[in-house]
Amino acid sequence: MDTFDYVIIGSGSAGSILTYRLSEDADTTVCVLEAGPSDWHPYIHLPAGFIKTFHMRSINWAYQQEPGPWTGGRSIYAPRGKTLGGSSSINGHIYNRGQRQDFDTWAQYGNRGWGYQDVLPYFKRLERRVGEGEDTYRGREGNLTVTTMDWKDPLCEAFMAGAVSLGIPRNPDYNGSIQEGVSYAQRTIRNGLRVSAATAFLHPARKRPNVNVRTHAHVTNIIFEGKRAVGVRYLKGGRGGAPVEVRARKEVILSGGTYNSPQILQLSGVGSPDLLRSLGIELRHALPGVGEGLQDHYAPRSVARVKDIKTINERRRGLGLAFEAIKWATTRRGLLSLSPTMVYCFWHSGESTESSDLQLTFTPASYKEGVQGQLEDMPGMTVASWQQRPESRGYVHARSADPFEPPIIQTNYLTEELDRRTVVAGMKLARRLLKSVPLAPYYDYEDFPGPNVQTDDEFLGAATQRGTTTFHPGCTCRMGPADAPWAVVDDQLRVHGLQGLRVIDASIMPRMISANLNASTMMIADKASDLIRGRTAPEAEPISAMAV
Ligand SMILES: Cc1cc2nc3c(=O)[nH]c(=O)nc-3n(C[C@H](O)[C@H](O)[C@H](O)COP(=O)(O)OP(=O)(O)OC[C@H]3O[C@@H](n4cnc5c(N)ncnc54)[C@H](O)[C@@H]3O)c2cc1C
Repeated sequence: MDTFDYVIIGSGSAGSILTYRLSEDADTTVCVLEAGPSDWHPYIHLPAGFIKTFHMRSINWAYQQEPGPWTGGRSIYAPRGKTLGGSSSINGHIYNRGQRQDFDTWAQYGNRGWGYQDVLPYFKRLERRVGEGEDTYRGREGNLTVTTMDWKDPLCEAFMAGAVSLGIPRNPDYNGSIQEGVSYAQRTIRNGLRVSAATAFLHPARKRPNVNVRTHAHVTNIIFEGKRAVGVRYLKGGRGGAPVEVRARKEVILSGGTYNSPQILQLSGVGSPDLLRSLGIELRHALPGVGEGLQDHYAPRSVARVKDIKTINERRRGLGLAFEAIKWATTRRGLLSLSPTMVYCFWHSGESTESSDLQLTFTPASYKEGVQGQLEDMPGMTVASWQQRPESRGYVHARSADPFEPPIIQTNYLTEELDRRTVVAGMKLARRLLKSVPLAPYYDYEDFPGPNVQTDDEFLGAATQRGTTTFHPGCTCRMGPADAPWAVVDDQLRVHGLQGLRVIDASIMPRMISANLNASTMMIADKASDLIRGRTAPEAEPISAMAV
């Protein structure tokens, strides 16, 4: 049986960075187990390939959520990356860290060392920012290239002018001291190619002799001796494959992501005794918080028909597409180098809201109703709007003891009153933005939610019918003190009550942040690598008291 110092389950955003950092110590051996294949497919690397990988089952877990009380009976699709780089290999490339208060709140939950001042050096250490940004907030020497959208489209310009006309200022850097405002999106794209956690961290680490990466290795459970995790069992090639065990001399690190990490814990006998009993899984360690607390951003997408200008919908067909393909091949620019959203806007749902609680994105394109990932034929533009810090919480439960059955995912979107109010406010702001004077030359009419929708109840009804995930699930193995009944890991990310086992991925977030999750998941892994190696944290720079 093979033995390594560390066995990492999952080569996603977190797993890739952990591999890179832990293997910097030449005498430390690291084994990474990834259920999916290698990330060779060209659609992973071509930014516009997003639209293809969105449903590509060979590299995507392609989960379905359970219908929720406020999703109009719909089961919402939940893609997740299943390849080297994990979800960072199929995501929308947006780089967005969140607000100062997000991390200060994590610290207030009792997690030492996770306030904004503590985590900022890790965001900086990972990043190679190309473009605007103060050195206090931005890194210039890391592996993760972050660029700003360089495709200047008249509709995007008009949208931003419209935002300014409503009092929303242009912000040169929403990852700097202040998030609120409107600007072109910052993306993990370099020279027209995706920068995933795998391309930035895992592949460079793989060149080291102390790193062993195994693809098509579907982990079925963690192996324990008493309360100590000592190894991992996987099936080579997936269901029906040969069972293989690898041993961990020091630690097993679970980085399977928000849906799979709690499922793997539950399959290994760690979780709520009632749940495990109902599934016929022998209890190894009672930890009722496993899988509980799931949060995500819920976004209705408002769509207007466009006149007198081309949108991406028409440009990606026929000769237009051929032209774009040649352009990308020769210059690495144009439509195929774009991420799915182009403009970001952060604003308040009401006068009394202290920091922005709404996130809105603009795209000069629109998707077919109910078929995310397929562009419409007629010209359209879309504003997606969502509440930054929802309060509703759901859960992830293993469906059965079979590790190949998808878990039960119930996000409970909009079950809290505040969430419903804020989502309605976001849709109203989206309408005002689409109807702004600078967009008027191109605005034809509102397609969704449509002119008949006027009252709050009608907006809420529309949100219920058409809202979807923004692909930001987190919080199912939450970090918190041992006496918190919901906590799964401590502030060193060690599983409470067990030895030799940490969870390190988006699932450990105690509360949803005001951002897409990739940047902070990578930050979590980078900080965790220092905790594991016993290294002193990089010194925090003084930041403005005004930073939000
Ligand atoms: C379609 C989509 C669009 C997104 N857009 C953005 C965006 O634009 N910006 C942004 O910031 N965030 C975005 N996100 C979210 C972001 O990418 C994720 O939050 C982040 O990648 C999560 O990292 P992670 O390490 O927690 O999990 P993942 O990156 O998902 O990694 C988990 C890994 O574990 C592997 N694994 C799971 N179970 C097993 C098992 N049993 N055995 C072996 N391996 C296993 C998986 O295959 C995967 O490789 C998007 C996500 C998706 C899916």
